[in-house]
Amino acid sequence: MRVTMLDGGHFTSAAGIWRRGEDMGRRVRYPVPAYLIEVGEERILVDTGLNPDAAADATRHYEGSEAIGYFELEQEEAIDRQVDLDSLTMVVLTHLHFDHAGGLALLPSTLPIVVQRREWKAGSDPEAIARNFFQPRDYEGVDDRVVLVDGDHDLLGDGSVELLLTPGHTPGHQSVRVGVGLIIGGDVTHFAVGLDDGRLPIFGDDLEVQLASAERLRGYRDGGVAVRPGHDPEVLVPGPVAVG
Ligand SMILES: [Zn+2]
Repeated sequence: MRVTMLDGGHFTSAAGIWRRGEDMGRRVRYPVPAYLIEVGEERILVDTGLNPDAAADATRHYEGSEAIGYFELEQEEAIDRQVDLDSLTMVVLTHLHFDHAGGLALLPSTLPIVVQRREWKAGSDPEAIARNFFQPRDYEGVDDRVVLVDGDHDLLGDGSVELLLTPGHTPGHQSVRVGVGLIIGGDVTHFAVGLDDGRLPIFGDDLEVQLASAERLRGYRDGGVAVRPGHDPEVLVPGPVAVG
């Protein structure tokens, strides 16, 4: 079993948005990870990074979105330059935010997309779209290949990769356990220390629910599992990731 972190790009924005109590005047450059999981014949992409057109000109790509103005996006190379997309067998989305779903447009048009049912429902609910700053452009036109799951889910049926429902950041956010020693946490906490200090971003679908999800991941971590944070510049470096 092999896990590789890919470079999905970067966004730069005010530190205070992503960690309560930080300075709103200080700007920080955050990595956007995506992951390739290789197990047996399966090659699973977890999240897709930024859309390259959005990275080039976000206000044009997401025309009409005010929220996108809070981000400066960059991308050295999109994920199609880092992995042979035709070799993938499925993509798992932790959630529908643009830094996770934006690269869907690059993927082969037959590739199954695994997402939590409640996240997918929120993605077409105008109120939830507004509250969660979703960009429907990222995931339009893919309904016919979306595979919906409900709650924790044994992805391959052999226990090797498990989807964990970890809502709060968005309505149907999920994390991905790989083997016994690794969890790709998604954006349950943007920083590794967020599992301990609970200083979450200032926005989110449901903060209490998100804190409960952080508590759940903290339990795994305290049991010896390495939990990958969402956008921690200190932790997230592209390359091989130990599965444990
Ligand atoms: Zn994110």
